[in-house]
Amino acid sequence: MKKTVLLILAVTFIFSAYAQTIIQRDPEIEQMVKEVSADSIQSYIKTLVSFGTRNTLSTQTDAKRGIGAARNWVLSKFNQFAKQSNRRLTAFIDTVTLQRSRRVDTPLLLGNVVATLRGTDEKDDRILIISGHLDNRRSDVMDRTGDAPGANDDGSGSAAVIECARIMSKHRFSATIIFVTVSGEEQGLLGSTYMANKAKKQNWNIEAVLNNDIMGSNNSSETNIINNTQVRVFSEGLPAYELDSNAKRIRQLGLENDGKARQLARYVKEIGERYVDNLQVVMIYRNDRFLRGGDHLPYVENGYAAVRITEMNENFYHQHQDVRKENNIQYGDLPEFMDFEYLRKNTCLNLCNLANLAKAPSMPQEVKIDVKDLTNYTHLFWKAPATGSVKGYYILMRETTSPVWQKKIYTEQTDVNLPYSMDNYFFAVQSLSATGNESLPVVPAISR
Ligand SMILES: [Zn+2]
Repeated sequence: MKKTVLLILAVTFIFSAYAQTIIQRDPEIEQMVKEVSADSIQSYIKTLVSFGTRNTLSTQTDAKRGIGAARNWVLSKFNQFAKQSNRRLTAFIDTVTLQRSRRVDTPLLLGNVVATLRGTDEKDDRILIISGHLDNRRSDVMDRTGDAPGANDDGSGSAAVIECARIMSKHRFSATIIFVTVSGEEQGLLGSTYMANKAKKQNWNIEAVLNNDIMGSNNSSETNIINNTQVRVFSEGLPAYELDSNAKRIRQLGLENDGKARQLARYVKEIGERYVDNLQVVMIYRNDRFLRGGDHLPYVENGYAAVRITEMNENFYHQHQDVRKENNIQYGDLPEFMDFEYLRKNTCLNLCNLANLAKAPSMPQEVKIDVKDLTNYTHLFWKAPATGSVKGYYILMRETTSPVWQKKIYTEQTDVNLPYSMDNYFFAVQSLSATGNESLPVVPAISR
């Protein structure tokens, strides 16, 4: 009994202290974030645009023009970064021959440019992926010869991938990070489908996929909104993957807002706003924009946590448009319409999340919520993570109507009894390293 009273006192103290607690930035991550350069990003995009077109069906034999030249250049950048990585970064073009499909009119050698930064812990099999699409399009998606600059769609995402590889390859992380620029997005998510299916087949332990597509322009068409302090993260709520087998549990526990992708989106928001100044991460409760899709979808469909990062407002004069002038409006996806400072911040958002996850221990195991007795307490218990060095854990807590976690309770125990009712809150548990890097949260399973 005495013990319980003490625990209540301790917990009350932690709760009241929490409001004043400022979670410190990890200095290593802060330093990496500072290194992200708007100038580097701009120079990558200038080079990408110089290939004339990067349509997936364009030439692969011309040294200077087309998707072939573009992917060789990305590979050369990755190989350049590999030299500073102490042999832990390796890169190659992962190719596959595809047959004709709706937007592919001839058998096609498709290539994703993949750089893998191997983790330092042999036992840590976690993989984190940052993805952008190298290919682009004109108004006619089958037009493979005319100019298509593709500065923002998706030069922005590709440049973010390259910049993160440049900076992160000089550092050591427990988990493995894959930097990829895929092809075939505009022809039907072909490159990401190939990669996600391969991952599933080979049982990759992917913890998070950050898909970056269209995130370097700060204004909308038609409505003239200008905004470079907010960015959207799209995530699926109800997981389509194995929904039938999980539907009963999700409905019973009210977990329709706690799927893997939604948890990742919440994490991206918290860590992003911790490390990137003047950037608000806006969660959008949709898998993607209205009736549209992107490269995170094949991962989501294979059961992985994957989200889409996209600018706050899109300008449709500069997306999927031939470069031309009509009624005094300049159409086309040109670099002059981009905001490289905004793209720098959105690149930082990726970097800090990848780094924080890669430095964190893996997730706590067998996280359970005790439902044996009816009580107004919530009894949670779990086991240490399989890999990584753990300093402690955060118990996360939020009201059922709150989109984000509201309380973060630190403990070094693996068994906690909180004076809050499981009826009225959602809970989850994260592992924490000594340098303050937290794992993704685990929603407790039922223990009877
Ligand atoms: Zn795109």
